[in-house]
Amino acid sequence: MAADTTSDSTAPVSGGGGGGNAGSGEGAGAGPGELSGPAWVARFPTRTDVAALEAGFQANVRRFLEALGEAGATTEITATLRPVERAYLMHFAYCIAKQHSSPQGIPAQPGVDIVWAHPTDDESRQAARQMCDGYGIDALQVPPALGSRHTQGRAIDMIIGWDGTLSIKRADGTTAAIASTPRDSTNPDLIAVGKTYGVIHFLHPAQDRVHWSTDGH
Ligand SMILES: [Zn+2]
Repeated sequence: MAADTTSDSTAPVSGGGGGGNAGSGEGAGAGPGELSGPAWVARFPTRTDVAALEAGFQANVRRFLEALGEAGATTEITATLRPVERAYLMHFAYCIAKQHSSPQGIPAQPGVDIVWAHPTDDESRQAARQMCDGYGIDALQVPPALGSRHTQGRAIDMIIGWDGTLSIKRADGTTAAIASTPRDSTNPDLIAVGKTYGVIHFLHPAQDRVHWSTDGH
């Protein structure tokens, strides 16, 4: 099958992990793990609270959110801290569903007893696709990263919107009047204001419209 898989298959350091792994299972699904599929999506949930963030970034985010609130913008936080287990599941579900990675070649992750390989590759891909749907990562153009600012508590995804002109305070107390469009988190003038708080929008705004972090990664 996947003739030329070039996905980064950097295996996470596999700790001791008691469960012996039979090299060749007698049949997919008969092993110690549980087959991939949508049931995994609810596990290892992503936090959406600011309190889950690393302390320094958390303080910056709170100040930026306060300024947004005072300016009358709407904000919806969709992700802060992402457990490494979830990052693993999202990454490889995407690789199998969208990049034709071989389900048999996915590295193990301690604490996640998932079986990526179903009896057929079609079933494996179908299950991975359902997981991508559940994670809401279908529209991404690159796989979600295994390790990221989210797994470090140094990133926040937030949907921002406003009407008319947004008058918002910069970190130094001066006010920016943002009349430009779009009136969302990809607005370059808003991105400049966020930067004054140390909340840096993803450096390629079109690729991840809602992502802010300590350094734009
Ligand atoms: Zn993000």
